[in-house]
Amino acid sequence: MPEVAVTIGSALAFARGRIPASEARMFLCRLLGIGAAQVAAYPERNLAAEQAAHYAAWLERRAAGEPMAYILGEREFYGRSFQVGPAVLIPRPETELIVDLVRARIRAGSAPRILDLGTGSGALAVTLALEIPDALVTAVDLSPAALDVARGNAARLGATARFIVSDWFSAVDATAFDFIVSNPPYIADADPHLKEGDVRFEPRTALASGPAGLDDLRRIALDALSFLVPGGWLLMEHGYDQAAVVRDLLVSSGFQEVASAMDLAGIERTSYGRRP
Ligand code: GLN
Repeated sequence: MPEVAVTIGSALAFARGRIPASEARMFLCRLLGIGAAQVAAYPERNLAAEQAAHYAAWLERRAAGEPMAYILGEREFYGRSFQVGPAVLIPRPETELIVDLVRARIRAGSAPRILDLGTGSGALAVTLALEIPDALVTAVDLSPAALDVARGNAARLGATARFIVSDWFSAVDATAFDFIVSNPPYIADADPHLKEGDVRFEPRTALASGPAGLDDLRRIALDALSFLVPGGWLLMEHGYDQAAVVRDLLVSSGFQEVASAMDLAGIERTSYGRRP
């Protein structure tokens, strides 16, 4: 950045060709604490030296491919802002489907026990705890660093949940849950998608799962039944082409009422089944 007289207009011009204009505007909104309309309306407004320095550093990181969510330190999920960093997967809109599916299965007046496997940022656990006020939520993750992020989000958003370091069910006591939810890693180890875009910066343990991406989905499907009450539900997110395989896994693991639900893009994204 030039040393002197950085304005909104010159900052946007400086970004041109390096990062998308929409992202440059997001940086300015954040730095100046103003909305997109003001960024557009006041190109002559000056940035303080410190704001200009931040802007230049963020632009550099973004141009090097780092995800916006990590640079800004937050991502929205189900209408709430979650703090995120490189220890956790960035919440995706399609994962909101699991929240809707659980909400649709809640019986009024019940206090459902819910387990979130591989909670990461806590997006699912915290959202379920807030959307279902009587819910008793347990969230596990193999990564203590991820659990710190999840705990922070729970505290900031006012959600109550129990957080446990656990390799899937290994440290979960024999509680019987009404719902087990998970957005596990489900990308094939050799999938070129792992080398593209935001995904390159996200924890590999949250993304890749064996030669077909099915290792963790299979483990969870096999073990979940004994952690559910009769009539309890397991719901798992999976890849765009895995629905039929995951339904088979659920059926062969002893689940009934097995089906899949589509995300907003029309892709079968979450499959679920019920303990008999
Ligand atoms: N949906 C993510 C992606 O394809 C992957 C998330 C996951 O593996 N759970 O980028």
